[in-house]
Amino acid sequence: MTSKNTRVALVTGGSRGIGRATVLRLAQDGFDVAFCYQSNEEAARQLEKEAGGFGVRVLARRVDVRDMASVQSLVAETEDVLGPVDAAVTAAGITRDNALLLMKDEEWSQVLDVNLDGVYNLCRSVVFSMMKRRTGAIVNVSSVAGVYGNAGQTNYSASKAGIIGFSRALAKEVGRYGIRANVVAPGFIDTDMTSVLSDSVKEKALETIPLKRLGRADEVADLIAYLVSDRAAYVTGSVMQIDGGITV
Ligand code: NAP
Repeated sequence: MTSKNTRVALVTGGSRGIGRATVLRLAQDGFDVAFCYQSNEEAARQLEKEAGGFGVRVLARRVDVRDMASVQSLVAETEDVLGPVDAAVTAAGITRDNALLLMKDEEWSQVLDVNLDGVYNLCRSVVFSMMKRRTGAIVNVSSVAGVYGNAGQTNYSASKAGIIGFSRALAKEVGRYGIRANVVAPGFIDTDMTSVLSDSVKEKALETIPLKRLGRADEVADLIAYLVSDRAAYVTGSVMQIDGGITV
């Protein structure tokens, strides 16, 4: 039986990659964890079992972060089943890379809808409850592309830069309610998202990464776990890069 002191986390895009590693890490840290995913039911069920192995409650739901009503229902169900959300992490994200000249309107809007509207939808849905309880930690996953821009990714870079502006504004808005909002900006992390890149793109990236390797999802999850923990009680409005030094 879970004690009522157990903290509750909600992670979007939890079925794979950085979101998955975050679900596992937060479960290991003793959070009851709800997560959503878009399509990969099998990965979600497997993760539900794996995270449950840490003795916490896990709730997995297929919810498209683009849809505000569905995200609101996910938050309501999480609060009903697990309790009020203490930590919200937005890891759901996609790429649809193209040069601007060749970009299709749907490539632009899909990326903005998932990456930026998805963040708005989750934060908008959890913030009132956090304000009432005068506590809460939000971590939104951006990218170094959102800080510096990346050729061939105007859509992705715009969405990730948007997350930074959004999160800093939110940190200023809700700090007085005891709510912290921070951003994690990863560089090249070894997940399905980067596995589609060509070997030559990866080799080029490796040349410019001082640590000479891609990052791991669990390394990003560690940073997220720190930011939602009390160890980061005085950290808000920050953008923490985790990129092996690629931007130095
Ligand atoms: P990934 O392995 O491709 O996983 C993406 C996750 O997002 C999956 O769980 C996927 O669910 C979910 N998702 C996608 N669209 C969704 C939607 N509309 N509604 C709900 N869930 C959705 O990606 P990743 O590499 O872990 O990336 C995680 C986050 O880190 C993203 O925001 C990404 O932009 C950011 N990031 C990644 C890197 C990198 O190098 N990997 C670098 C910088 C930033 P399904 O599996 O069910 O579709």
